[in-house]
Amino acid sequence: MVIALVCQAGYRSIPSLCYRLHSTYVRRMRYLFQLKEDDEACRQAYHAGTFFLFYNNLPFLQQEGKMFLAPKINGAEIKKILEQFRQSEEKIEDSLLIGCSYECTPYFALDLGSLERAAIESELNGSFVDLWKAFFQLREEDASLISTAQALLHWHDNHQYCGKTGQPTRKNLAGSKRVCQGSGLICYPQMSPVVITLVSDGSQCLLVRQASFPQGMYSALAGFCDVGESLEETVRREVAEEVGLEVESLWYSASQHWAFPNSSLMIACHALVNPQKNKISIDRQEIEAAKWFSHEEVVMALGRKPQSSIEKDDGSSFWVPPKQAIAHQLIQEWVKKHAAVPA
Ligand SMILES: [Zn+2]
Repeated sequence: MVIALVCQAGYRSIPSLCYRLHSTYVRRMRYLFQLKEDDEACRQAYHAGTFFLFYNNLPFLQQEGKMFLAPKINGAEIKKILEQFRQSEEKIEDSLLIGCSYECTPYFALDLGSLERAAIESELNGSFVDLWKAFFQLREEDASLISTAQALLHWHDNHQYCGKTGQPTRKNLAGSKRVCQGSGLICYPQMSPVVITLVSDGSQCLLVRQASFPQGMYSALAGFCDVGESLEETVRREVAEEVGLEVESLWYSASQHWAFPNSSLMIACHALVNPQKNKISIDRQEIEAAKWFSHEEVVMALGRKPQSSIEKDDGSSFWVPPKQAIAHQLIQEWVKKHAAVPA
């Protein structure tokens, strides 16, 4: 009873009082859910919010040595910035909710694409950077927030009109959905499921190259899930399509959101093929090269830095994606599991 009274009385003005009664994680999730469902609560949250700035989907970053930092701008500062660039206060309502801190400080992304880029950059002492170029130099926490924000901004940008009636759509304040002004149809931000599979024959692992990969890089097989498929079916089909092998068993490892080039949910799996039937036949439309590598070769590849200037790209001095990519984790797991197998 007491709890209920505290919550009702203090709901809007001091949400932390209410949410302190739950575990940190539950509190944060409930708070975010409230902001997604209730426009007025979201509007109130701007004051205590932290903002990440974007310019036509490019994140605002500051360089610190070899690393990039995503500056956190508070509600008062964002107001000042908007005033300074002669924007109305309502511009803040273009913001998208992208998460919150452990203390329930809401995080928002705001795209200032309608303003003058160079003026903002010089005023705030940083620059709007291509996320793909900066991604591997961002701290893990920033990388995840910024790529969520970019994916969400991109989705809203591409869903300004209803796919059924062609009428304009409008986002709710948090940006967790868009509603068609004509038909009332609601659409929610989406990710495309992609399976990423590390194939093993028990002693070697199969790595492939797509033509679009940086020179010298080999990775696990990847492919989009087709409509109607289970995860298992996608793994089996992709391995059959791309390298002509039949999967005997497979197991799930982990998943990751990947913002490039569009929002994907990368679902990482290990797959085992029969070592007697491990002869590869490549689908050249999908991949450029596929090779079996020994434990020793893979360990060496994990230790190599990305090399853009490999003279002979024959797979002898290949490297694998860096630790931020889930393919790296899959390869690490395989190496650990096969540590006892002689090369
Ligand atoms: Zn519509």
